[in-house]
Amino acid sequence: MKITFFSAKPYDKTFFDRFNQDHGFELEYQETHLGPHSVDLVKNAEAVCVFVNDKLTAPVLEALAQKGVQIIALRCAGFNNTDLEAAKRLGLAVCRVPAYSPEAVAEHAVAMLLTINRKTHKAYNRVREQNFSLNGLLGFNLHDKTVGVIGTGKIGKAFTRIMQGFGCKVLAYDIHPDEALSAAGVTYLPLHDLLRQSDIISLHCPLTPQNHYLVNRETLSLMKPGVTIVNTSRGGLINTVDIIEALKTKQVGALCIDVYEQEEKLFFRDLSSHIIDDDLIQRLMSFPNVLITAHQAFFTEEALSEIAQVTLNSIADIHNHQMPAGSPVMLT
Ligand code: NAD
Repeated sequence: MKITFFSAKPYDKTFFDRFNQDHGFELEYQETHLGPHSVDLVKNAEAVCVFVNDKLTAPVLEALAQKGVQIIALRCAGFNNTDLEAAKRLGLAVCRVPAYSPEAVAEHAVAMLLTINRKTHKAYNRVREQNFSLNGLLGFNLHDKTVGVIGTGKIGKAFTRIMQGFGCKVLAYDIHPDEALSAAGVTYLPLHDLLRQSDIISLHCPLTPQNHYLVNRETLSLMKPGVTIVNTSRGGLINTVDIIEALKTKQVGALCIDVYEQEEKLFFRDLSSHIIDDDLIQRLMSFPNVLITAHQAFFTEEALSEIAQVTLNSIADIHNHQMPAGSPVMLT
């Protein structure tokens, strides 16, 4: 069976080739995103393997189905880039990797929080230039701070455990609160109360039509002045124009983002010699209290191994009609 990959990077090839030794599929790697412009690259493939910024709209899925594709394998957890209704209608099996390493993402969120707070990125550069001054590097203790976690699924839980280890008070908001987390000392609150009481807010919910722009002018105005916001979930959870305004007025004290609402035009590429035609990210990058990473929270050895293994096993199981009913990897 042939599988065509889109948005393929050298590290995808390394990990998928390694774990394909157990399967012997024919793997074809395309560097470009999947979209209307690239769908014709699919030839004689039964499965297509895509990542977060590939666009699986109804017309793209229709074109894939016409070419004989039967399986869409998302090598990620989020599926906001896929029209699942259209996939169902076309009889396409869509699978994903529901939990490859929640700790990888949670630990990156914490790394960003510690960096922006204790300014280790600035200290590193200063010391290398023999500037041993501490001016401008003042941070605050995480101990005893109130951390609001929005979305307490696998990643939110892992993040919560770490923050409790730091001695933080953890508040949470989720449309499905978790009793075990309440028993572990986390306080679930309505969203607006969490926003009002938190010193640090970390987003760990998926992007859905209901929570698009969850962080907007109105919700920002409810937050504590000087709040730190961390987003490792999806860019569309934050209205970028509104958060830039809140950074300018200092309502937001610091922002860490691993995701950005227009990231598909930028992330996962070296654009260092290009003119970037995106004034919003340029404005964000100009703030000294904004830390941006390019969707790397998942990027650990453990996570990439799990992604490759689960994806290839799922494709094999679907192909052999052995996928257990109700499996959490299946989206259709
Ligand atoms: P999960 O499904 O285990 O948990 C998501 C939680 O969010 C659930 O408890 C759900 O009830 C809750 N939720 C859903 N809609 C909500 C809403 N409107 N308000 C509040 N809570 C809501 O998912 P997960 O594995 O913890 O992943 C969370 C998200 O992290 C993914 O959807 C994805 O967008 C993102 N992610 C990012 C990276 C990265 O590299 N930056 C990697 C993996 C996942």
